Amino acid sequence: MKTKHLSVKIVVALVLGIAIGSIFNMFSDSLFVENIDKYVFNVIGQIFLNLIFMLVVPVVFVSIVLGVVGVGDPKLLGGIGLKTITFFLTTTAIAIIIGITLATILQPGSGKSELLKSDDVSSYKQTLNKENSAQDSPAKQTFDQTLINLFPKNPLQAMATENMLQIITFAIFIGVGIIMVGAKAQLIHKFLDQTNEVLMYIVTMIMSVFAPIGTFGLVAHAFTGAGFGAIQQLGMYFFIVLLALAIHFFVVYGAAIKFIAKSSPLKFFKEFIPAITLGFSASSSTATLPVSLECTKKMGVKREIASFVQPLGATINMDGTAIMQGVATIFIAQISGVTLTFGQIVTVVVIAVVASIGTAGVPGVGLIMLAMVLNAVGLDPAAIGIILGIDRLLDMTRTSVNITGDAACALIISKSEDKKLATINSKN
Ligand code: ASP
Repeated sequence: MKTKHLSVKIVVALVLGIAIGSIFNMFSDSLFVENIDKYVFNVIGQIFLNLIFMLVVPVVFVSIVLGVVGVGDPKLLGGIGLKTITFFLTTTAIAIIIGITLATILQPGSGKSELLKSDDVSSYKQTLNKENSAQDSPAKQTFDQTLINLFPKNPLQAMATENMLQIITFAIFIGVGIIMVGAKAQLIHKFLDQTNEVLMYIVTMIMSVFAPIGTFGLVAHAFTGAGFGAIQQLGMYFFIVLLALAIHFFVVYGAAIKFIAKSSPLKFFKEFIPAITLGFSASSSTATLPVSLECTKKMGVKREIASFVQPLGATINMDGTAIMQGVATIFIAQISGVTLTFGQIVTVVVIAVVASIGTAGVPGVGLIMLAMVLNAVGLDPAAIGIILGIDRLLDMTRTSVNITGDAACALIISKSEDKKLATINSKN
């Protein structure tokens, strides 16, 4: 993949998609616009997305097994796991604190209590009622269930249902098995290595042929249906989420890359553009994985680390989502005329960190998980209906932040483990 040319093409496609989609949005009543959106933009976008999704399960499985085998030492792997999870939890907590602070200072919800009476709230109440009767709604999973669900009873079912955490667990076991069996498992190791080569070739091919047109389709479709009308009324909320995302993206990740990884943040952001734009257009951390792994590989992040840290991050590390949840909670408290106590704000931080772990890397789940945060501090989850209309646009932006956090972590851990891994590899 000639990253430079491809990145330029994707960015052009993105800008065109935003421009044309926004123009189409103004004429959304016209049948012509409706048909072009449905049969052209959406079809192109969904085909591209399916092509990428087609690779997610095999890429995640194969790369994690190879990552574990590459580290070669289960103890070292444990250390890397601990560092990774510490980084994830810390950055997510920082993210939500940025969101809460900005929303508390800028008061997006003051004087907007009339929003609570809108139809959006009552219709979201009905959605919630339906969800509450469904057993496995993501916001309803209890801690013990979440823990039990980490371990797949049937790995094939885990793959068929794209249950990322279970696939990760299974892959770690297979990886450790290959290490322990040693020479006798060489054939499997080689087979997976070659499978990985083939998968990466397909990722590169799909990206270089379809990414620009696919990105255009996805973005044009999203902007044709965008709730621009709602943005006017919720402008301040929208702006604060974007501002918090930008601060977290440039300042927190920028500083972490510069001071912890001792690398150039500019170079990092530039090389990560294909993944950032795909995250933006697909609104899915999971779908972006094959491409974000390719990008970090080009940056020189150790494959053993990237292939372990990024899939885990795409599943449990959602800084952008946590920002939205922090701002949304304060916003909803303000329109409800409720002042949250310091204790309640701490609860919001803790619950949002947990919620972001439980948020699947697919479009819109962050908003569903927001119900859990609101419930924890006694706010009405039906108020989510108010921000529903503009969430798609924010979802696009926060997904880009989510995956950038995973890649930044991979770079940092790769740098910090460089020497240990080199020693192990030289022994092998
Ligand atoms: N779409 C987000 C992601 O995939 C999750 C969310 O916030 O809804 O990362």
